[in-house]
Amino acid sequence: MKIKEIGEFGLIERIHAKAGRSTYPVVIGIGDDASVLDVGPRHQAVTTTDMLVEGVHFLREAIDPRDLGYKSHAVNISDIAAMGAAPAQSFLSFGLPGEMEVEVIDAFMEGFMEAGKGVPLSGGDTVSSPQGWLISVTVIGIAPAGRVLRRDAAFPGESIWLCGPVGDSAAGLSLLLGRTKTSNDRNRDFLVKRHNRPEPQLRVGRILLESGISKCAIDVSDGLLQDLGHICERSGLGAELELDSIPLSAPIRELAEENGKDPFVWALRGGEDYSLIFTVEPDQEEKLKKILEKENLEAACIGKMIPGKEITVLRDGVPMETGGDGGFDHFRKDPDS
Ligand code: ADP
Ligand code: MG
Repeated sequence: MKIKEIGEFGLIERIHAKAGRSTYPVVIGIGDDASVLDVGPRHQAVTTTDMLVEGVHFLREAIDPRDLGYKSHAVNISDIAAMGAAPAQSFLSFGLPGEMEVEVIDAFMEGFMEAGKGVPLSGGDTVSSPQGWLISVTVIGIAPAGRVLRRDAAFPGESIWLCGPVGDSAAGLSLLLGRTKTSNDRNRDFLVKRHNRPEPQLRVGRILLESGISKCAIDVSDGLLQDLGHICERSGLGAELELDSIPLSAPIRELAEENGKDPFVWALRGGEDYSLIFTVEPDQEEKLKKILEKENLEAACIGKMIPGKEITVLRDGVPMETGGDGGFDHFRKDPDS
């Protein structure tokens, strides 16, 4: 059987089956945004790793190495944010073609450290790669014991919230790839920046954990439907989304209009926004709204968790055809579709 027949997630399940059971002190193993390890009575270490491959995640000639450095760190920090933890140290490994200019790595490092906002680079590995540039980043975070935000902690009746943009990154990518066009340079810069320099929602994750308002979160790396699908699958639930309650930026609306596209396709399926989806018990909603106001944060209630397995998207109260979760799978989908 070929890998592409079972896809990225089928392969991860197969690996998971051989991984050995996670035993104490590994509190969370494979299957969440990050793994969680008890490190003493008061703290847990939260570890995530992500890889970027030239030709799959980026084209060397099309991306500024500063942005690439920024993004490769930011996407890992986003997984730490999705657990409600604080990043403490990072590791960076490179596979590099020898003919690459060292100045490219200098620029990469500037962006990498900028995204870390003070998180120290504490190690890594450097090897040669004849087939292009490989980047592997690991971030270790710290959280107070027993309180990390998990994918499997949603309950039926909880409302679903979204903090941060969705669709902007995919719209930015469509501009970079020339699939859409705009006469508005400010919109172009805004959307391309969302794609190249995503903002991990660290503060939101920390506030949710510290206030106890949410126990369940995921970051949107593969698309709103697909990542909400991971919460559903891991929590044994379905979800109902109200399409019109999903906030869209003005630039994505304008770009969609200019190009005769539906912006919600980007919002539901587009990956790499690194927003947070989290769930909240109904009796915590007032407290959440107060905290959001006090902290000057915006989050939108976009639906609720329900019994079942499916995600239903309602447009004006009527279920719409979404054609599956349609997010990004490394072995099955065209990354740009
Ligand atoms: P994320 O998008 O949050 O980075 P992924 O969808 O990439 O998460 O991965 C899902 C889960 O599978 C994570 O817990 C990740 O650590 C785990 N995983 C992915 N690839 C492997 C692998 N090769 N070996 C072990 N675990 C893996
Ligand atoms: Mg994640």
